[in-house]
Amino acid sequence: MDIDRDEDAIVEECRVCGGSIYIDSDCEEEDIVYCNDCEAEYQILSLDPLRLSPLNDSADADEHSGDFGEYD
Ligand SMILES: [Zn+2]
Repeated sequence: MDIDRDEDAIVEECRVCGGSIYIDSDCEEEDIVYCNDCEAEYQILSLDPLRLSPLNDSADADEHSGDFGEYD
């Protein structure tokens, strides 16, 4: 099978690895796109202007620990 490169695709830089995220012309708002390099998931918030929201909620949960009620 031949992979046909769509010239209308928008290439966005991945915030995780700096790789390429291809948003092709038939993507719509709220679609999920993936980084070509690290497979990070992004949701398309808007297409014009293009805004992507990273979907990394449960991936690393250690950034904000939920344990505020710590006993001392
Ligand atoms: Zn990436």
